[in-house]
Order: sequence, then C-alpha cells, then structure tokens
Amino acid sequence: MGKIVQLPDDVIDHIAAGEVVDRPASALKELVENAIDANARRIRIDVAEDASALRVSDDGEGMEPEDAEICFLRHATSKLRRREDLAVVNTLGFRGEALAAIAAVAELEILTRPRHRPEGFRVIIAGGQKMSAGPAPAPEGTTVWVRRLFFNTPARRRYLKSGAAEQRACVEAAARIALGHPGVAFEVTAGREVRFATPGDGDIRAAAAAVIGPQEAGVLLPAGGARGPVTLRGLIGPPDLTRPRRDHLWTFVNGRWVQDRTVATAAVRGFEGRLAPGRFPVAFVYLDVDPSWVDVNVHPAKLFVRFRDEHLIFSLVVTAVREALRSAPPVMLAARSAPSPTGQLLSPPGLPPAPAKAAEPAALPWGAASREPLPAQLRRLKAVGQLFATYILAEAPGALMVVDQHVAHERLIFEQMLKARAGSPAPAQQLLAPVTLELTWAAAEALRPLLPWLGRVGLQAEAFGPRHVLVRSLPAVPGFPAAPHENELRALFEALARELPELPEAPGAHLEESAAPAPWELRLLKNVACKSAVKAGTALNTAAMRMLVEGLALADNPYTCPHGRPVVVSIPVEELDRRFGRRTPP
Ligand code: ADP
Ligand code: MG
Repeated sequence: MGKIVQLPDDVIDHIAAGEVVDRPASALKELVENAIDANARRIRIDVAEDASALRVSDDGEGMEPEDAEICFLRHATSKLRRREDLAVVNTLGFRGEALAAIAAVAELEILTRPRHRPEGFRVIIAGGQKMSAGPAPAPEGTTVWVRRLFFNTPARRRYLKSGAAEQRACVEAAARIALGHPGVAFEVTAGREVRFATPGDGDIRAAAAAVIGPQEAGVLLPAGGARGPVTLRGLIGPPDLTRPRRDHLWTFVNGRWVQDRTVATAAVRGFEGRLAPGRFPVAFVYLDVDPSWVDVNVHPAKLFVRFRDEHLIFSLVVTAVREALRSAPPVMLAARSAPSPTGQLLSPPGLPPAPAKAAEPAALPWGAASREPLPAQLRRLKAVGQLFATYILAEAPGALMVVDQHVAHERLIFEQMLKARAGSPAPAQQLLAPVTLELTWAAAEALRPLLPWLGRVGLQAEAFGPRHVLVRSLPAVPGFPAAPHENELRALFEALARELPELPEAPGAHLEESAAPAPWELRLLKNVACKSAVKAGTALNTAAMRMLVEGLALADNPYTCPHGRPVVVSIPVEELDRRFGRRTPP
C-alpha cells in the first residue's frame, strides 16, 4: 500500500512556506535529502556542466507505484500526517513541496523500485504535468533526473549566476549533506569530473578528508561533550589552521547543515584569543538535539533552526572547543615536528642545559609561547640576515623569527597557483629565454593534455615535436628571482608525468574554475611548488629575503608548507633574555 498522502490544510498552514527551489543547488539539496530520508546507504550525484540537469541515484527504500504517481503533487508526503508530528519530525523533508516545486519548473523523471518488488516504475513529469507513468526495469532504490531546469521560467533563469558558479553551488550543497551524513557514501560528479567521494563508514574525519583534503582533516582535533538534551561531537582545527572567512565553520544539527550564529560565535569564543583578528577557525560541530528542543520549521529551506535553550548550546560549544584545543600546540606555529635538541647545544659546558620540553612534543623547540599571534608579528617582520644559506632570520616585535627559505617560498608559490587556478591572473615569471626540455616520449605524451592547466597556474609550456616541451614561464612569487636549472625543470616535468597515471581522474584540460581544487590538482600543485621554490643552500640578497617575509605576511597559511612542514619558528625575546641571564621585567 502507498504511504504518501496530501497534507490537510490545517497542517499546511503551520509549515514555514516559501520558495524552496530557486536555483539548481536548492533543487539538488531537496533530491539528496529525499534519498537520505529513504535510508539510502549510497548516493550518486551528477551535475551537468552548466547545472541545468541533475541526477541523484540512491539505494534507499524506493517508492510503490501508487506513491511514485503522486509524489510530485503539492503537499504530498509520507513523512508527516498531523500537526503534532511537526514537533518531533526527524526526517530532512516533511513539507511535501520539493518534488512539486521542481516538477513545476523542469522535466522530471523518476525511476524507482522498492526492495520487495520485482519490477520498477517510471514517471515522467514536465512543467508539473504527468507525461507518462508505467512499469520499467530499475535497480533497487530511486533515481531522479531533473532536466531543462527553469526552462519555463525565463525570469528565474536570468537570475542564475554563470553555469560554473551554479555548478559550484551544487557541489557545495552536496558537501554539506555528505558531511552531515558520514554514514552514507556519496559520490559527486560535476561536469563529468569526480569532485569528492566519501567512504560512508560513519567516520566524520573521513568525510571531512574527502571534502577539505586529507592533510587538513588529519590535523583536526576531536571534540565532544553533552549537556541535557544535547550531545556534541566535532573536529576542531588547531589555531594555526585558520581561514579569512567563517565558511569553514560547519554546524550540523541532527545531521542537517545549518547556519547558526550561536554555534559560530561560541566556536570562535572557545579559541579565547588564540585566533588572529580577522581569522576564523576550521571546525565541524555536530549537535544531536532532542527534536522537541529544536525547531527546524522556521525557514522554508531549513537553513536556520531555533534552539529552545541557546545558552546551553553556547556554553556546550565553548567548553568543547576549549577542551579540544588543550591538546593543540601551545603556540600558533606549526610545531608539530619533534622538538629539536638545539636548545641544549647552545648551553655552554658546565651550565645546566635548558629544561627540555620533550614531554610536550607539540611545544616549540624553545617551549615558550610568544606574546603576539603570528600574523600580527609577520606583518612587522624585518629580515636581518641569512643563516647557513638556508634560513632567513627576521626580527618581529618581541621575537626572533627563523624562516625556512625553501618552505616559505614553496608555500607562497603554492598559494599563488591556487589563486591563479581560481581565476586571478597567473603570477608567472617569464623566462628570459624559453628552455627546451627533452623528455621521454611517454612523459611528453602523458603531459600534453595537462599543458593548458599548467599554463593557467603559471607554468607555461608548449609541446614542441613529439618529445620536447618549451618552457616559457614558471609560477613565481612576484619579484622573487627564481631560476631553476634546466635539470631541475626536467626533473619537475618527469615527476609530473610519473604522478599522472596514479591519479584516479584523468586530468584532462579541465579549465573551468570550481569550488575546490580536485585532489589530483593539489598533488600536482604541491609538486610544482616544491620543485620551483628556491633550494636550501642558495644565498639570497636582502631584497629577496624581504620579498619572502613580506609575502608570508599576506599568505593564507603562513605556518606550514603544502606538505605540512613548518615555515617559521619563533624564539621569544624572553627566552633569549633568560638564556643570557638577563632578568625579564615581571
Ligand atoms: P517531502 O520530502 O517533504 O516529503 P518531497 O516533495 O521532497 O516531500 O517528496 C515527496 C515524497 O516522495 C516523500 O515524502 C517520499 O515519500 C517520496 N520520495 C521522494 N524522493 C524519494 C526517494 N529518493 N526515495 C523514496 N521516496 C522518495
Ligand atoms: Mg523532500
């Protein structure tokens, strides 16, 4: 027997009304939420190049034919019957409006089969009218195609952003749902390119890794806590992993991604001044709240919720973040590396060695925290010299900063390339004379489709005959003299060619910008950055040293190289004073 009914008017009147489908991403969100509500374990999402067509496939419960026939009618839902149910609803959907809204502005095809039925059922709807319905072979679960989205609403179509922007919004919407449901395996393809895939093993770190990358996900600190009807789980970025905007503060309430000021403010508060001004943490906060303690019916797209007790939520989040950070390095620097023994070596014989802080592997080599957060210090760094042709010494207010020149340069080039990839002009350093490289035939062949992409991130190279490439420019930090040797360039191209076959998605010339660089791109960019950065052992003049430290002041992440090695180590002046037996003012 079918389970979908059309809601009676008295229930409809109590539902937050409004347009739920105003762009492709909102249509996608509704389809994916339906798949989750149908208890799917695997969900495949495909978004067309310009986001005018979508497909969502799930392995969930499927629909009986009589349900499939009416599911696209207004207020047709299987999730809600009476007004009282609204208070305890625990499905993502319940208004019975989404399929109706999509069907009204697109061509909709639904292919579905519940587990116990031998045969599936197909319904085709266009502009809200049923075109055909009947039995059809189908895998277990439901697949919904949306085509020609907004074909009959030219006004709405004009409001849409570019196809690339709509596509990006779709991938973002999918990421929010995937992160909210780590127990469901998602595979998201847009413009025929896999954007991310989560394992669906229930591990929030694994889901986060699929979306923000394994390297960043790997350093997140676990958080937890409970208070009354609310349980919190989460992953909190250490203070040296920050963003210029709040967009990496993810909040999920009962699996639903929401925008919530209380949680965001509380998360920032939990950092207690360890964030530089204008920087925001990376955090994934999952709240499980008794449904009667949270109202999800305050916004048509359910992007906001109302908690019965905001103070309780606030203090729970602040405490959880604070405790998670206890296990973080005491200072902002990327001091995840083991403490160096240098501290002891500096002590003259006969004097007791400086107390080793080996018990705190996260601490800086010198153990002490500097007073100012690093970005403020970086803004006032003054390069004073070079050490061992490898480190730049710089004076900051209250500290000596030691910058690894290779790692710093690598970080800056990497960020420049990321920006170039996202659409700003590529900061390339034109070579005075193009360098011709002879490669193996296989390497040259493998690299050919990658050349447009490389050009876009600043490494302009042309194929020249079957085995040669002509390199015209290198990704560069503007003004910084970088001149890798021909051999190094060849090593770079050969390394790229070697990486290519290992990359799961063939990196053709995918030149549209997208929300996040694909994993294969990040891997290649790191490679290019490392190989084009100045090496340790290279003498630098004052201007070059200045370029590097000034560049760091503007970097998104001045703390670690793309591979995770620290860029800067800071030695507070108090530490120097102490070692020289000067009394520091109390
Ligand atoms: P709502 O989700 O608010 O109930 P929708 O318009 O999104 O409303 O969907 C209407 C009904 O269609 C749902 O209540 C559900 O019974 C059925 N349905 C939609 N998508 C699926 C799906 N992927 N699998 C199973 N049933 C579905
Ligand atoms: Mg729905």
